[in-house]
Amino acid sequence: MTPLTEAEIRRSFVNCSQGEAKRLRVPLGLADTAWETLDFLGWRDPGAPAAAYLVTEWRGRVTGLVMRLSTDRRSTGRQNMCALCSTVHSTTDVALMVAPRPGASGRNGNTVGTYLCTDLACSLYARRLKQPDRVQPVETLSAEARIERVQANLDTFVRRVVDVA
Ligand SMILES: [Zn+2]
Repeated sequence: MTPLTEAEIRRSFVNCSQGEAKRLRVPLGLADTAWETLDFLGWRDPGAPAAAYLVTEWRGRVTGLVMRLSTDRRSTGRQNMCALCSTVHSTTDVALMVAPRPGASGRNGNTVGTYLCTDLACSLYARRLKQPDRVQPVETLSAEARIERVQANLDTFVRRVVDVA
């Protein structure tokens, strides 16, 4: 993806208040980020373990989502595959992440959830730049196909959150 500045990242969030977007912790080292290896910038806040963030170029616009890790044990039960990159993890390395819908809908508690790698390193797993702890099922997809799969799944997830046709 195209390199982003902190200001661009803060401006990109579609599902939180401007105040929250101003305050949230943006990752350090943006200038040193290998943007060309990323389909999205995803990060966690070490000071707020339930918080997760995802910023990507979605249909020509830099679009950021605020998410939180669900603590609903019933639904996190047995799911251990990331919905974006299909990496299989131990259940502690995958989490149900829940994004509020933009605007009034989200303020009224409407959310969209999906299972994601807790380190949000899907782009790196798809490119085999990071190895998961678990042995993966045999897969014959090329790197290009794995990357396209991440991008297609990401497009779907963002669309479900923003809820436009
Ligand atoms: Zn993933």
